[in-house]
Amino acid sequence: MNKTSKIYVAGHRGLVGSAILRKLESEGYTNLVYRTSSELDLRNPLEVDRFFKEEEIEYVFLAAAKVGGIVANNAYPADFIRDNLMIQTNVIDASYRTSVKKLLFLGSTCIFPKMAPQPLKEEYLLTGKLEPTNEPYAIAKIAGIKMCESYNRQYGTKYISAMPTNLYGENDNFDLHSSHVLPALIRKFHEAKVNNSEYVEVWGTGTPKREFLYSDDLADACLFLMNNYEGNEIVNIGVGEDLPIKDLAYLVKKVTGFEGELKFDTTKPDGTPRKLVDVTKINSLGWKASTSLEDGLQKAYNWFLENELEVT
Ligand code: GDP
Repeated sequence: MNKTSKIYVAGHRGLVGSAILRKLESEGYTNLVYRTSSELDLRNPLEVDRFFKEEEIEYVFLAAAKVGGIVANNAYPADFIRDNLMIQTNVIDASYRTSVKKLLFLGSTCIFPKMAPQPLKEEYLLTGKLEPTNEPYAIAKIAGIKMCESYNRQYGTKYISAMPTNLYGENDNFDLHSSHVLPALIRKFHEAKVNNSEYVEVWGTGTPKREFLYSDDLADACLFLMNNYEGNEIVNIGVGEDLPIKDLAYLVKKVTGFEGELKFDTTKPDGTPRKLVDVTKINSLGWKASTSLEDGLQKAYNWFLENELEVT
């Protein structure tokens, strides 16, 4: 990419897309294009076709997707598989037909088999059964990876796929019913501080381990891959370190300034004991995450204070 290349960020309002857009802007890329879902329904092939023909796009960051936690995935499996297949098929195919120079497809670590060894290496893709609760979503993402690969093989395109670990940052989902653990804890600890509560309830035993990547670091990695990586193999994006939920909870307690206790609600599920990606490949390409969890948490908390409290 050069600074005047025409770049389309699909999904620019989400956690990932908004971080990519901010990164492109801060790096001085000036020819950026994006549309809200009401302006352009990516599930509609005719609309997508018209958009790509009119805009003459050169580079695509495909960060548009229907995403959600375990409850949403369980309740709306048809929506998750259909919307994601439609969005990615339309964008990838329109990119091919309008001669887009390069496309980066964003997947997720749920594409890896449930019982795969840790840390998760890229080569574990399609070596075992998936976690059943989000299988329809994961199958759509695997189809996206295979579509990129197949277009490269048959048409000589340059489509690459990146698999980010658990993310957090600006524009995250802070809704306690549907959010992931990190934004949920930010809200819980903040509210406990404001209400002078005695304790905060943390789900499960606190022993499962998770890895957390700040969304701005992911955006940095996406630009790095777009500019430096070509190949059919997927690339993991993570920090390469995880920590127990209990330690995360103590960090959030510190960042929010809550002074009460923690209570572990063991009637709530722990989920998978560990989910860590192997980052050897992206590190050897020359990229490393740079935001510490404590700094990232502070930034995410500041964003929550400035943006989330007004809308709820
Ligand atoms: P997962 O990474 O797909 O398992 O999804 P989550 O981010 O929702 O949960 C990760 C871990 O954090 C699980 O062990 C949860 O039980 C635990 N956890 C602790 N407190 C919370 C909370 O308030 N919300 C959520 N979503 N998870 C929590």
